[in-house]
Amino acid sequence: MTNTVPSDKTVETMTISKALLPLEDALKQLKHFAQPCLGVERVDTFELDGRVLREDVISELSVPPYDNSAMDGYAVRAQDVSEPGALLNVTQRIPAGSSGQALKPGEAARIFTGAPIPVGATSVVIQEDCEQVGDSSVRVRIKGVPGQSIRLAGEDIAKGDVVLKSGARMSAATLGLAASLGRKDLLVSSRPRVALFSTGDELVMPGEIAPKDMGIGKIYNSNRYFLKALLRQSGCLVTDMGNIPDDRDATIDSLSKAALDHDLILTSGGVSVGEEDHIKPSVQSLGELHQWALAIKPGKPFAYGRLNGSEDSKPYTHFIGLPGNPVSSYITFLLLVKPFLMYLQGADSVFYRRIPMTANFDWLKADRREEFLRVRQNAEGTLDLYPNQSSGVLTSAVWGDGVVDNPPGQTIKAGDTVNFIAFESWLK
Ligand code: AMP
Ligand code: MG
Repeated sequence: MTNTVPSDKTVETMTISKALLPLEDALKQLKHFAQPCLGVERVDTFELDGRVLREDVISELSVPPYDNSAMDGYAVRAQDVSEPGALLNVTQRIPAGSSGQALKPGEAARIFTGAPIPVGATSVVIQEDCEQVGDSSVRVRIKGVPGQSIRLAGEDIAKGDVVLKSGARMSAATLGLAASLGRKDLLVSSRPRVALFSTGDELVMPGEIAPKDMGIGKIYNSNRYFLKALLRQSGCLVTDMGNIPDDRDATIDSLSKAALDHDLILTSGGVSVGEEDHIKPSVQSLGELHQWALAIKPGKPFAYGRLNGSEDSKPYTHFIGLPGNPVSSYITFLLLVKPFLMYLQGADSVFYRRIPMTANFDWLKADRREEFLRVRQNAEGTLDLYPNQSSGVLTSAVWGDGVVDNPPGQTIKAGDTVNFIAFESWLK
């Protein structure tokens, strides 16, 4: 047996894989930290979009509730129109919202879309295939087909079916479905109350200083704007707490105040280990902190923590610290904060879909981290790469309509199949 001494390269890889936390592992830990999830409240079905359902919705009726006509036309007994040209007596008229009488042999009922099929009728012939004869007869120009243009009771949903499961995120379509079952309100998760901070002495709010008067070293605060929007789109009640200066006491003071009446404190910037990064020691002094170096690019520094609460009913407040670089902040929100917020609300699954697509670019510099490259679909249906992939270049996230999720150590050649995640699917 030969003893193999690991080469320098192997040792380096081992150290690195120990130091950097893979995205999947970070997500698993966040899922765990999000338990127990938030409480529930009953909300009017009109107001449900974006909320997370916390009860199963079981249908108390069949949909449709009765056999009904799919078209405007004539309800007939199919055996009365076994040949084209049959002449029938029109003995009743059944608009939607009313019910008819049983149909006797040789009779037809004028019927409209959604109206109940009268007893005895087995087919609806659309009006275009019929010809009115005098005041009370109809000639059917085609052969009647049993079941034609009839929507059967329970065809969509049977009574007793579990139509929506606890943990489902309510969309326009799902809340419409709940309404179609007669549900005027549903039990959903409370909205996460989120306190949002930016950090950094260099940051200026738009409106504070005109662009022409911006001094060297100052930049506009963009993270505060898009993070607020992303939080709202994730169903949160957001308190914008402003900017924390790069100062330990100010940071501790702001965080402890925010902890009182929020479920989560979200900050951007100041989570690295530089001496101007005050978030880490401040959270540590108020509770516990997990400082992660994520194996993703952009977005390596990331922190999850808990600030101790004063009451038994609220033993702690969650804390998440995002990196300050705008694209890192944006991408780590989508990759980690969005799922965390969903777990906190009791959602059953997360969310973004990786779709195989063809690259129309070369990416020849493999990275040891999982990369999220900003790309856009072109007219040929392949993906173009934004030329500047720097984590400070927010234009890339505006130009792009999603990212390529590129595994660690992977290069890309034009024509390769890559995994695409659309921003749209993430923001839903
Ligand atoms: P930090 O993580 O605090 O070291 O910040 C990293 C980089 O992101 C620096 O260039 C900051 O100026 C920039 N940055 C931090 N916060 C923001 C913000 N809210 N808006 C725009 N840029 C920011
Ligand atoms: Mg900073």
